Amino acid sequence: MVNCVCCGLAGLGRRGLLAGMGAALVAAPAFAQTGPAATGPVSAGSPPAPAALVAELVAGNRILANEGVVDGFGHISVRHPDNPQRFLMARSMAPALVTAADIMEFDLDGNATEPATPARTPYLERFIHGGIYRVRPDVKSVVHSHSPGVIPFANVATPLRPMNHIAAFLGVGVPPGGGVPVFEIRTVAGMASDMLIRSDALGKALAAKLGDAQVVLMRGHGSTVVGASIRHAVYRAIYTEVNAKMQAEAMQLGTPAYLNAGEAKAAMEANDRLVDRPWGLWTRRIEGK
Ligand code: MN
Repeated sequence: MVNCVCCGLAGLGRRGLLAGMGAALVAAPAFAQTGPAATGPVSAGSPPAPAALVAELVAGNRILANEGVVDGFGHISVRHPDNPQRFLMARSMAPALVTAADIMEFDLDGNATEPATPARTPYLERFIHGGIYRVRPDVKSVVHSHSPGVIPFANVATPLRPMNHIAAFLGVGVPPGGGVPVFEIRTVAGMASDMLIRSDALGKALAAKLGDAQVVLMRGHGSTVVGASIRHAVYRAIYTEVNAKMQAEAMQLGTPAYLNAGEAKAAMEANDRLVDRPWGLWTRRIEGK
């Protein structure tokens, strides 16, 4: 039934649909089940993405906007659950305005699986997402943003490091004693690029800089955050911004002590089991908006 939501909606209504699809869907906001396209986007070679995942992606877009991570710019994607060579992401638009009907499907080279139309143009920087999914099988969701507290750390030599346990992921997958990696686009695109990850080659270079980390900063631009689900990626994007502000504040007072590698690993593993709690709060905040 998950793969045949059009029929399910007609026969059962929303209450019956949710009851049949499991408790995980109960938290899905009401708007996610309305509108003309409650099922996944047009697909080629993959089963349609489950409507529940599309609804979660819509909620992720709106939460990131509501929490100040994205504004008119920025985007979130999720890997297709039935085809790891595909991912889902909204058409080029402000994340706060995304609905299920706006979700498109892409291959890892950044090609949309639906015919091109002027009304549904993809984000220029979709190559960020495919580039990372290609080399990081553990990653199921990617957030790219220009969240303002983070960018200073992309532009100075001071590394971004985990200030507290909630942002422990910042210290995992990075060199011992090091900070979040910083991508310098000049090394790939020369001295006069428009700073955008607008090609697959740039997406590959960014993914290489990310390496095994959970976040990569982009000098003069923003950051990209990864996670094992939409909820994990949203959590990390929000707390990357929180940590950056906290670290800048602490550095006014003195030299901060950061989580060491062992603390970061242990705390990240603990937090990764708790992402549903803030997700419930953030979902409540977007209701009615
Ligand atoms: Mn960007």
